[in-house]
Amino acid sequence: MGASGILGDGKKAVKVHHLVKAPENTPQSISRRESWDATKPATVYKTPEMLQDGTPCTAATVILRTKGCVWWWKSGCTFCGYFNDVRDDVSADDLFAQWEDAKRQTDDFKGCKMIKVYTSGTFFEDRENPPEWQEMVLKETHERGLELIVEAQAHLCSPEKLSWVAERHPGCTVAIGLEAYDDTVLRFHCNKGFSTKTWRKSVSDLRDAGLRVKTYLLFKPPFMSEGDALNLTCEWLKEVAPLSDEVSINPMNIQKNTVVDRIFRNREYRPPWLWSLVEMIERTHDEIANSNCRTIVHPTAGGRIRGAHNCKKCDAEVVAAIERYSVSRDLREFKGLDCDCKNVWRTEISNDFSLPVPLGQGRDRRLSRVDMVRAP
Ligand code: SF4
Ligand SMILES: [Zn+2]
Repeated sequence: MGASGILGDGKKAVKVHHLVKAPENTPQSISRRESWDATKPATVYKTPEMLQDGTPCTAATVILRTKGCVWWWKSGCTFCGYFNDVRDDVSADDLFAQWEDAKRQTDDFKGCKMIKVYTSGTFFEDRENPPEWQEMVLKETHERGLELIVEAQAHLCSPEKLSWVAERHPGCTVAIGLEAYDDTVLRFHCNKGFSTKTWRKSVSDLRDAGLRVKTYLLFKPPFMSEGDALNLTCEWLKEVAPLSDEVSINPMNIQKNTVVDRIFRNREYRPPWLWSLVEMIERTHDEIANSNCRTIVHPTAGGRIRGAHNCKKCDAEVVAAIERYSVSRDLREFKGLDCDCKNVWRTEISNDFSLPVPLGQGRDRRLSRVDMVRAP
């Protein structure tokens, strides 16, 4: 953006030229971004999890404040709001301090057998995180016998870097946000920055390095109808499960200031129905049950207007059944679940396939008619 002109007091304004990749460089976003303490991690919490061998355990999740993702510096995925939590002046000292703080907050990972270290980008990318800090995390978690999960973009999984990681923490898990097993969707819906071919290559390189593969799929990327999301995700899941140790299907939750946030506020996108998730689980259960792959569906912000939701009345019950299924793998969790809104959902899905509306029929139905016509 360029700004020039005469200010009220007669002084000539300085010409400012800086790249605005709206909206993350607005003054509000910048001041918010710079308000936090770079020596404290963004979030630390414990959750019930399962070890690689299937034993239940407690996992600590540590979300660090970092410089963010190299892909976001250049472009960025359409649904990713991680840039809201990153800052380009995070130093190596800050990251070491954040790690110490995470241990303080969890009583030195007391009771935890697994640690998820999330850096809003690629953990082992040196431009994002200092290598000495990566090394410390890998070694410390390995020496303490903690299972480790880190995240990465597919094209950054070079064989050299993977063997470097594997030397420091053999057998750790690398989670890749594949989102969709479809190059058109990756390119035009997600703006993912890599192709399915690159992902397949990274999977084989991960295997060669003896590392575990976790795959994230995104349920209902932007510019996609509910019906297409349901059918496509079922297909993708069946295709990627045999190649992965674990698949986590993440129903879209709308993060602030993203492309999908924009179309959501414009009433051109509705987050997925919880019924669609139930239907996807039921359709794929048998095939997935026969593979060695674990699948998890965790509706972040489930039941909320920015997360997967139904009609409000049945949300809590359906979310709970989906969460139970992720642990029990038992389709009986969904037995007897019903609500009047299931017909609305069914109609939407069938309309999506019979009417020529590429973005789908789904609209936000929780609002009153008066609110519907108001600008969001
Ligand atoms: S989803 Fe991952 S790859 Fe995409 S912009 Fe966000 S952090 Fe980067
Ligand atoms: Zn309902």
